[in-house]
Amino acid sequence: MFRKVLIANRGEIALRVHRACHEMGIQTVAVHSTADASAMHVRLADEAICIGPPPASDSYLNIPNIIAAAEIAQADAIHPGYGFLSENARFAEIVEEHRIAWIGPSPQHIRTMGDKVEAKRTAGALGLPLVPGSDGAVETVDDARKVAEEFGYPVLVKAAAGGGGRGMKVVENAAMLEGAFRQARAEAKAAFGHDAVYIEKYLQNPRHIEFQIFGDGKGQAIHLGERDCSLQRRHQKVLEEAPSPVLSAAERARMGGICARAMADMHYRGAGTIEFLWEKGEFYFIEMNTRLQVEHPVTEMLTGLDLVKEQLRVAAGLPLSRTQDEVELKGHAIEVRINAEDPESFAPWPGLVQEFHAAGGPGVRIDSALYDGYRVPPTYDSLIAKLIVHADNRPDAIARLKRALEEMVVGGIRTTIPLHQRLMTEADFQSGDYSIKWLEALLARKN
Ligand code: ADP
Repeated sequence: MFRKVLIANRGEIALRVHRACHEMGIQTVAVHSTADASAMHVRLADEAICIGPPPASDSYLNIPNIIAAAEIAQADAIHPGYGFLSENARFAEIVEEHRIAWIGPSPQHIRTMGDKVEAKRTAGALGLPLVPGSDGAVETVDDARKVAEEFGYPVLVKAAAGGGGRGMKVVENAAMLEGAFRQARAEAKAAFGHDAVYIEKYLQNPRHIEFQIFGDGKGQAIHLGERDCSLQRRHQKVLEEAPSPVLSAAERARMGGICARAMADMHYRGAGTIEFLWEKGEFYFIEMNTRLQVEHPVTEMLTGLDLVKEQLRVAAGLPLSRTQDEVELKGHAIEVRINAEDPESFAPWPGLVQEFHAAGGPGVRIDSALYDGYRVPPTYDSLIAKLIVHADNRPDAIARLKRALEEMVVGGIRTTIPLHQRLMTEADFQSGDYSIKWLEALLARKN
């Protein structure tokens, strides 16, 4: 096993990785920007190295400085967390070229799945069901029109390099096509430096259901069930739960089995998430994330597995700690993302945290790097805490989440806690009857 791991990230996920390392007797090296000098991940790590000024492009995305930090600290592995460089295949290659272990999938798999056109082609070849759409990238407005007419409006123009819901345009009818096509290309070019786009049938009222998979890189792979992430705003997840309220045990085993077999065939190494839209009982692959997800604790609560420790194991060449038969999914788990944002306008709300009290008690987990007196910087993502609950069944998990939200105190800044409290009281949420459109419709009605 590794002796010292450099964590190339910040915030709650840097802490999450640190915790797994320390429980395994591994030392940690934090890296940080000047804005994060007094951050919790810096305080808890065994060593900390400043890698640049506040903008992420100069620090958390600064590959030469991160590699230099790993060499100075003599780290033998790098964990990228999520976001930042976690899906940067070139970074993974550079890490390996420096004889440092990369805690993630092979650079080749990151590259394939990072290009959504390639990812769809690969997924199709591996036998996963796809959203109907263009066969690869679409180059011209005329080709886009042909594809849209073949599958019927509405269609979605998506960036091949897309992420975080950017570069996506819904096209309701033929008149809108040319504008949307050009706009999606321009947006993709600006956001990702790569203007390739493809077209998919726009599903009207789907759910977002994703499967957590794990591979050992040598042909063994397992699935750890699904997470339902249909509660979204602007294509961004707000709340995640497992099991999905709409999936039967038989469907879970069938689809999970298909995903695990596909990953075994690829010789995939490490944690991965295969994302699907689900409508009227059918699954449609949309993309694969080759990293740990924000919502991984939901799966940890159900399985009792520590996914970060599992990542460390397979990166060190050890086998998976469980076979598929040994994976048991127990009870129900829900995670809410608490952001430093106004709960109605969603405007970012960085600033000084004047009071902080974390919820506690049975079945409650908080992943957060907050503390009393911490100043949330305006520079990074607004996620400040994840509140996760676990109970025997869904109604009990909802009751527990309600109770835990009442206990949480984050003073001095605005947060999305009131939004989550409101969600808990909605009949559709309580019955599990919601799609990816539901939250935005609710917000539009009430505002
Ligand atoms: P990103 O990588 O930008 O997050 P995804 O492909 O994962 O993009 O899609 C993000 C979200 O966009 C999905 O969870 C879903 O809400 C919506 N979406 C994507 N593709 C479709 C589609 N074909 N029809 C309807 N909604 C879609």
